[in-house]
Amino acid sequence: MDLLTGKVAVITGGTSGIGAAAALLFAAEGATTVITGRRKDAGERLAAELSSTAAGAAVEFVRADVSDEADVEALIGHVTDRFGRLDCLVNNAGIGGTPGGVATVDMHRFWGTLSVNLGGVVLGMKHAAPVMTEQGSGSIINVASIGGQFGGWSMLDYSAAKAAVIHLTRWAATELGEHAVRVNSVSPGPVATGLFGRAAGLDAAEADQTADALESVFAKRLSSWQPIHRAAVAADVAPALVWLASDGAAFVTGQDLAVDGGISAGRPASVSAADRAAVTQALTAERDGRFHSV
Ligand code: NAD
Repeated sequence: MDLLTGKVAVITGGTSGIGAAAALLFAAEGATTVITGRRKDAGERLAAELSSTAAGAAVEFVRADVSDEADVEALIGHVTDRFGRLDCLVNNAGIGGTPGGVATVDMHRFWGTLSVNLGGVVLGMKHAAPVMTEQGSGSIINVASIGGQFGGWSMLDYSAAKAAVIHLTRWAATELGEHAVRVNSVSPGPVATGLFGRAAGLDAAEADQTADALESVFAKRLSSWQPIHRAAVAADVAPALVWLASDGAAFVTGQDLAVDGGISAGRPASVSAADRAAVTQALTAERDGRFHSV
């Protein structure tokens, strides 16, 4: 339980879902962990709770909106003043995006999604990079999505932002790698969190409470797409973030790690087999029909 001992980590959007699960695990692995978000009360409550459960590792909350450069600059400045270093930044904060298609896209909402899901990542990297290059080490992990790898899995604006995050990650890795700073992304498939409730207009606390109910909904709908049939939960993603932050991933940079139960590998073999059997059956029926009609 000491993969991250001595490291200082910042996790954006850390008050719920994947960010909160990551904060729990980072602290349990010994990292001094700063969680950020926009909700001061919820953030401070969670930080206090995690500090009392994580053997010795400090957990703090700093309020910051990732789409606001002054907030992000102040956040990184606060962490480096207080702890003297920054070893890991998890750019996790995100919003679900806007329904609609190419012909109906609302440009105001489009840029709103991009300012959080892409702009927040750019700002995090912009202000963390000088600290990390100066210290000659660091790991930046951007939370992307399989929606950034494939069309059709998520909203148009969300997908475009996440695709850009995956590419930006590679780009930044080529620059910062020369200073021994690693940059990777993690692409989850569907994960039962409050993201969906928030996107549907529920308030933050209400949305978080929907996460458990989503598990069975997801499991049913995903079984024809996801080789591992159960629904993912936030705790399935957190270990990948810990590994990329750790020295165990010291030579890994510029990569996108899918944590998606196999969705990006391909369809479940049983689904393909059932489709092949249906085609064979249809061909046999067609041949028998022709034979009988001669
Ligand atoms: P979540 O809604 O629980 O977490 C997102 C967090 O980001 C929330 O705490 C939210 O308040 C915060 N946030 C939103 N806008 C912010 C801003 N401007 N400044 C600071 N914080 C802000 O959902 P989650 O599923 O845990 O999402 C975490 C990340 O994982 C997101 O980047 C999301 O796009 C990504 N992701 C989620 C899924 C999924 O199915 N849940 C799949 C792939 C990727």
